[in-house]
Amino acid sequence: MDDAVERLAAVTSDIATAATDCARSADAVTLVAVSKTMEAEVIRPVLVAGQRVFGENRVQEAKGKWPGLKADFPGVELHLIGPLQSNKVKEAVGLFDVIETVDRESLVAELLKELPKEMARSGRIPKLLIQINTGDEPQKAGVSPKDADGFIESCRARGLVLDGLMCIPPADEPPSPHFALLAKIAARHGLKVLSMGMSADYREAIQLGATHVRVGSAIFGARPPGREHG
Ligand SMILES: *Cc1c(COP(=O)(O)O)cnc(C)c1O
Repeated sequence: MDDAVERLAAVTSDIATAATDCARSADAVTLVAVSKTMEAEVIRPVLVAGQRVFGENRVQEAKGKWPGLKADFPGVELHLIGPLQSNKVKEAVGLFDVIETVDRESLVAELLKELPKEMARSGRIPKLLIQINTGDEPQKAGVSPKDADGFIESCRARGLVLDGLMCIPPADEPPSPHFALLAKIAARHGLKVLSMGMSADYREAIQLGATHVRVGSAIFGARPPGREHG
């Protein structure tokens, strides 16, 4: 069997175990298979195996790979999990089903402009998550936790429909306090979707309420260096 397909089965079953271990239903957690840097031909067997939810971190790269794959495999749900530049919003709202990285006013303004146009064009628009920089790391994208309440309220006041929150905890700290913080902010605002947990820590994230885990290397294997979160 294809290596990625074999690892996909292992991760899927591990997610179900982690969920049931904390009295959650296995289908309460959606696996977002992170296919960034992987060629379409590497992704294809994973689609054949039945996986339909994928994450990419660059608009340009996704635009090269996914229109073809989407045409061949109906029901694909594509998540943008990397930083979004304002000048790529128009393309992103057409290509992605979920944008997980809304994190600043200029992006909100651009989304408010492009979402109605996309709705008129295609009859659908992506769901939106706010990225929270739970570790307040200067090099990382996301809204600082201290600004999160204000940002969420201002997005809603301006008419943006939000589905949930996403975070990438600092690499050198235990992730659980970051997951707990994200869950707490979401609960305060009645936001249902919690995208948290990656290959190394999705079990902990599931214990703390993740509805979506973003798993790349545990499925597709190691990526070339320098393509972690950029
Ligand atoms: C690359 C990436 C992932 C997947 O990381 P792995 O450790 O390979 O599972 C998850 N989320 C984001 C935002 C990423 O950029």
